[in-house]
Amino acid sequence: MHNIVFDHVSKAYGTKEVIKSLNFEIKEGERVVFLGPSGCGKSTTLRMIAGFEDITKGKLMMGGTCVNDMAPGARNIAMVFQSYALFPHMNVWDNIVFGLKIQKLPEDEINKRAKNALEMLHLEGYEERPVRSLSGGQKQRVALCRAIVKHSPYFLLDEPLSNLDAQLRQRARQELVKIHEVNRSTMIYVTHDQVEAMTVGQRIAVLHNGMLQQIAAPQEIYENPANTFVASFIGSPAMNLMTGNVNFDRMVLGSKTVQLPKGLDTFLGSGSVIVGVRPENVRIVPDGEAMLKGECQYTENTGNLQTILLHLPDQTKVFVQASGEPYHIHVGETVGLAFSWEDVRFFSDETGENLYVREKGAAQHGSH
Ligand code: ADP
Ligand code: MG
Repeated sequence: MHNIVFDHVSKAYGTKEVIKSLNFEIKEGERVVFLGPSGCGKSTTLRMIAGFEDITKGKLMMGGTCVNDMAPGARNIAMVFQSYALFPHMNVWDNIVFGLKIQKLPEDEINKRAKNALEMLHLEGYEERPVRSLSGGQKQRVALCRAIVKHSPYFLLDEPLSNLDAQLRQRARQELVKIHEVNRSTMIYVTHDQVEAMTVGQRIAVLHNGMLQQIAAPQEIYENPANTFVASFIGSPAMNLMTGNVNFDRMVLGSKTVQLPKGLDTFLGSGSVIVGVRPENVRIVPDGEAMLKGECQYTENTGNLQTILLHLPDQTKVFVQASGEPYHIHVGETVGLAFSWEDVRFFSDETGENLYVREKGAAQHGSH
């Protein structure tokens, strides 16, 4: 069994707690992404798994064993560091096979693994080059090769593609997923890039201020963010968040009063609530059908996608994204906006929690 269990794991530097009571499991063979803004604790969490950081509180279990006091070398992990950590005076080949030689693997096994890795990361022909003569992107690929050849049951990667250009990054990411599909190690991939997270992760763990916000499949995170932080971190542009004021079966939204569908009124209670709707689910409509009014601030068209920013009367920003026929709209124009209630997510005005996720089982969209 090569699973990883965080049992209320916390980490403090002095009096500053940077990881706060992580409590979740990564299953054997799973590919999990740690996603969050810079400084949220992704590297620290990964380094605790690798054994390079002490655990202040709680228990970290790997394969059923508490590893709090286990040395890094005993944990059977392969790790790619954000800073590569290569031997600069050695050439590419020697860097890659160094660990395998220490393990005293047979020569032909070493050659096979190294050649495979070099091919996967498009580094054939670089074997003899000293590492210090390589670009950042090439060094990063050497560091990936060195980790891949270990064939460890745990594969930890800290922003492994951050120094590659966009095209190479996409290719390397696909290669990494393919490698994982074959070797089925327990893989944790750290990134601050949501697109990378969505494409690499079978599940994504979103971190913020050292706290786990949500761990779920990419689609679930996108469709049902656990709170307003996740809602505004995922998606480009992110989910629109507006304040609504519920009064019985009506809601005041950006100076307009709209009728709530049956069932929603009882689910929401009364008072302030945050209304979340993704840009692709907002439509520009004739005045008669409008639930909201917004003034166009800018519009851009990237060929297959039109993105429009509007301001509601209270200055709340609303993005509209359309992939079909573009809207003919100009800056300064005020237009009507509408959305379907089934595309709306509601969040607590006080805590930011997704009210539906919190009250699972509650009928979000009334009784059909
Ligand atoms: P991320 O990888 O998500 O960018 P880190 O895990 O590197 O974030 O850092 C999380 C927090 O811990 C940050 O606030 C950072 O300043 C702090 N931190 C990291 N390493 C140390 C350290 N050695 N001493 C004190 N604070 C640290
Ligand atoms: Mg980091």
